[in-house]
Amino acid sequence: VGVGLPRVVGASLRVPVLGGERVEYANLDHAASAPCLEQVRDAVDELLPWYASVHRGAGFASQVSTRVYEQARDSVRRFLGARATDAVVFVRNSTDGLNLLARCLPRHTAVVLFDTDHHAALLPWRGPHVRRLRTPGSAAAAPLELDRALREAPVGPRLVVVTGASNVTGELWPVAELARVARRHGARVALDAAQLAPHRPVDLRELDVDYAVLSGHKLYAPFGAGALVGRSDWLQAAEPYLLGGGATARVTDRGDRLAVAWSGAPERHEAGTPNVVGAHALATACDVLGRHWEQVAAHERVLLERLRDGLRSVPGVEELALFGPDHDRVGVVSFTAGAQDPGYLAAALSAEHGIGVRDGAFCAHVAVARLAPGGRALRASVGLGTTAEHVDRFVAALRSLVTEGSRWEYERQDGRWVP
Ligand code: PMP
Repeated sequence: VGVGLPRVVGASLRVPVLGGERVEYANLDHAASAPCLEQVRDAVDELLPWYASVHRGAGFASQVSTRVYEQARDSVRRFLGARATDAVVFVRNSTDGLNLLARCLPRHTAVVLFDTDHHAALLPWRGPHVRRLRTPGSAAAAPLELDRALREAPVGPRLVVVTGASNVTGELWPVAELARVARRHGARVALDAAQLAPHRPVDLRELDVDYAVLSGHKLYAPFGAGALVGRSDWLQAAEPYLLGGGATARVTDRGDRLAVAWSGAPERHEAGTPNVVGAHALATACDVLGRHWEQVAAHERVLLERLRDGLRSVPGVEELALFGPDHDRVGVVSFTAGAQDPGYLAAALSAEHGIGVRDGAFCAHVAVARLAPGGRALRASVGLGTTAEHVDRFVAALRSLVTEGSRWEYERQDGRWVP
């Protein structure tokens, strides 16, 4: 573990803890946002002197930026195994990408999805033909449920929305099997790869998936850049929802009105000055991860096992699972700890031990309400910024908080626990 592994910035950050020296920060919240890769930071550094507006500028720096921006599309396309004809639209994040796709669906598209998805995949779809299926208790049952729903779906365009890996339980969804069922019923498939892409290779052609979204900030790049990738026809036909420069091929004054010819995809969905630095950072992260899957997967497998074994050894801890404890998952584990308040435990882990975890319902309220009593849980997630020491320290700290309690008093202020 650790050999040949891409390194992240801030790996040895030290943070203050109650009544003690600073300790090394243990970031066990990679599922929310992952730290930036050193190579990404270096790539951004290298680009900054060439900072210039793309496409419209004739200057040399503008040409460099334009080329970097367009090459970034190729990196993302390669990373996701997308088709040469697929559009790569740079967006802010996965939420933005899924909302954009929802705006581009042909009228009366029947949309089918599962109800435990992240809100970003659950909420953007509108209209009379949106069907939310109850997530079944086994992954094998999901394609059968989908098949049943699609048999009843109205004739016309259809879209199935599938999550790659749950942001609550880390469990992998049977994407290829669901896509096969969708295809049988003439439905397209959109993959929410936000949580899957940082952990496992995704190949849209192999999976036979039409669209995918991802977020740079979960993929070891900074915030503000993500991508929607996929079939260009619906994207090409849809009115842009951001109207302005960059999205227009020509605007003509017709006296009483303006005649606007929109650009083709992806430009028509990227109005305004684009985030070149963000796209380059995202693309660099894609390139680096794409070259290191074996090391990334091995690192994560070892840490995830260590984390789950450790959690099993803490009295009262129960892991959340959609499909059961043996189902394959990425490095994300949510759990409850008996009657202990998840918010209190998360606050104490941070304040006393310098450990960052997440508590609450993780923007997947339906899923957490179903899996955790009280609808709240704790989540620990590992990645390239995690070490075995972080995991061990977390398990020991949790055990001590659960079995012995804390020597500090906490009170609730504005919904948060503070010492
Ligand atoms: N889908 C999943 C599975 C996620 O984990 C997240 C982020 N928690 C999102 C979508 C939304 O990503 P973003 O907040 O970057 O838009």
